Amino acid sequence: MLRFKYAKEGKKFRTKLFKIFILISLVPLIIISYDSLSVTIRTREKNIAELQALAIENTSDKVKKFLDQKMEVFNLIVSGEADDIREIDAANLDHLIESLKESAGDVEEISFASRNGQELVKLSQDPKLLNISDSPEFITAAAGQNYFSGVVYTDKGPVMRMASRIENKNQQIIGIIAATIDLNPVQGILEKIKLGSTGFVYLVDDAGRLIASSNNYAPAGEPLLEVPLVKDTVAGNLHDGLASEEQYTDRLGQKVIFASRPMGKVNWFVISEWPRDDAYSVINEILLRSAIIIASSLILILILAFVFARQVVKPIEILKEGARQIAGGNLDYCLDLETDDEFAALRERFNEMIKALKENKKLKDEFVFIAAHELRAPVTAIKGYLSMVLDGSFGRIPVAAEKNLKIVEGANERLVQLVQDLLEVARNESGTLKVSLSPLKISESIQTVIKELSPMAGQKGLKIVYKDPFEKNVQADAFKLKEVLVNLVTNAIKYTPTSGEILISHEIKGKELLTSVKDSGIGIAPEDMGKLFNKFYRVKTEETAKIEGTGLGLFISKEIVERMGGRIEVESQPGKGSTFSFSLLIS
Ligand code: ADP
Repeated sequence: MLRFKYAKEGKKFRTKLFKIFILISLVPLIIISYDSLSVTIRTREKNIAELQALAIENTSDKVKKFLDQKMEVFNLIVSGEADDIREIDAANLDHLIESLKESAGDVEEISFASRNGQELVKLSQDPKLLNISDSPEFITAAAGQNYFSGVVYTDKGPVMRMASRIENKNQQIIGIIAATIDLNPVQGILEKIKLGSTGFVYLVDDAGRLIASSNNYAPAGEPLLEVPLVKDTVAGNLHDGLASEEQYTDRLGQKVIFASRPMGKVNWFVISEWPRDDAYSVINEILLRSAIIIASSLILILILAFVFARQVVKPIEILKEGARQIAGGNLDYCLDLETDDEFAALRERFNEMIKALKENKKLKDEFVFIAAHELRAPVTAIKGYLSMVLDGSFGRIPVAAEKNLKIVEGANERLVQLVQDLLEVARNESGTLKVSLSPLKISESIQTVIKELSPMAGQKGLKIVYKDPFEKNVQADAFKLKEVLVNLVTNAIKYTPTSGEILISHEIKGKELLTSVKDSGIGIAPEDMGKLFNKFYRVKTEETAKIEGTGLGLFISKEIVERMGGRIEVESQPGKGSTFSFSLLIS
C-alpha cells in the first residue's frame, strides 16, 4: 500500500486524491506497456524463427546449386553412336578430359569406366586400372543415376566422390565417369550467410561431422554428434525436418537458438546457431528504453499527482484556515480564495456567515455593555448602603442580622467585581478600553494593593512579601495597573490552599521592568497554560471547582498590560506553584 510522509492527520483527503490520480494514470500505463512489450517480444520471436529459416534455406539452395553445377558437367553425352566408351579413340577422350577439367574446376581422380566396369582412364597418383563393376559409384551411375559418395576428410579439406553415366547420341549408356570433388568452396558459400552479428550456419554429414561452417566454427571433419541438436537432427528426431528450438545449448553449454534441416539430394544437414543474447539484443534495447520511459512517466505522474492533489485541496485548506480564524475570534478575516467555480459560492456563503457572526457579536457586546452599565449603579448603591448599615450609621443592628448582612455584603462584592469585569470586557470588545499612560511609582501601587489584600491573605495564613521595591517610575495607567495587580495577587491567594508566602519582585530587563507575583499554590498543568488568558477560561479540576471565579481576570489583565505596551506570561509547575509576570516600560 502506498504511504507518503505528508499523509498525517488532516491531510488524508489530499493523500486520497494523490493515490486515486496515481492509480488512474498508472493502470493504463502498465497495461499499455505490458501489451506493447509482449507484442514486441512475440514479433521478435517470430522474426528470429523466420530469419533462421531463411538462412537455412539460403544455405541449402546455394550448396545444392554448387553440387548441381558440378554434376551437370559430369552428365556427358558423346556424339556418335558408339556402344561402349572403349570405341572412342584416345584423342577424343583426351579432349573430353581437358574440357571436363576446365569446366568442372577442382576435380581430381577422374576416371572413366566402360559399360562392364573396367576402368579405361584414371587420372590420379595411382593410375592402376581396375575393374570397378562392384563399386557403388559404378552400380549407381551405370543404372543411370547421379552418384554422391559420403564426405571424406583429407589433409586438404573435405572431398566427395561423384559419378555419372556417359551416353551416346541415342541416349544409350556407354560407360561411366567418376571424379573426386573438392568441397572447400562450400566453406566460401557459407561464409556469405549472415545471421545477426554472431549467428552462423554449418553443414554436417549423416555421421554428424562438420563439412563447413560460416564462421570457421570447427575444423572440417570435427565430430559434432555430442551437440544435442546435431544428434537430434541426424537421427531425424525433429518435426517437419526443421527445428527452431530455444532449449538447446551449444557446445559450450550456452543458451543458443537453433534451427536445422536436412538438405536433400545428399545426406547432409544445414544447421544454424544464434546466441540468444545476440538474437534478442534488439529486445533488450527496447526493454531498456521502455524502462527509461516508464520510469520518467512514473516520476512525471508522481509530480502531477502531487500538484493536482494540492490544487484540488487548496480551496479546502483556505476554508479550513478561515474556519480556524473565526473559531479563534478573528471576525475580520477575509477568505483569500480566487476562484470562479463551485468554491466561489462557498466563499460567498462563508463571508456572509462571518458578517452575520460579526453582527451577532456586536449585538451581544452591546447587550453585555448596557446590562453591566445599568447594573453598576444599583450594585454600587447596595454596596454603599450596606457598608453604612454595617458600620451603624442607621443605628445598632442585632448580631444575627449583622452576620447575615455580612454574607450579603460578600455576595454583593463579588457582584460588583463581576459587573466591573463585564464592563471591562465589553469595553475591550468594542475597542473603548482606553489606558492613559503616565509615569508612576509602581512600588506605591504595589504597597496599596498589599495593604488592601493582606486581610484576605491573612485569613488563609498567607503572607504577601514585596522584595526590593522599585523606586523609579514606569509608564502605566494607575487605575488599570492596580486592576492587574489586584487580579494577580487575588489569584495567588485564591489558588494557594495552605499557608505560605506570596512574593512580589522585580527584574530589570533592558528598558523594561518585569514584575512577578509568585505563589506556592496548586500550579497549572501544561495543557492549560496556553488557554489561561482566554476569555472565560477556567481550569477544571477538583481543586478549582471549589474556588469561585469568572475566568475573566487574566483576560482583562492581559488586554490591559498589552495596551500599556507590555506582555504578560506565566510559568508554573503543578503542585508547586505559579509565577505570573508582566512587563512595563521604565520611564
Ligand atoms: P478566575 O476568575 O477563574 O480566577 P482568571 O482569569 O483570573 O479567572 O484565571 C483563569 C484561570 O487560571 C483560573 O480559573 C485558574 O484556574 C487559573 N489560575 C489563575 N491564577 C492562578 C494561580 N495563581 N495559580 C493557579 N491557577 C491560577
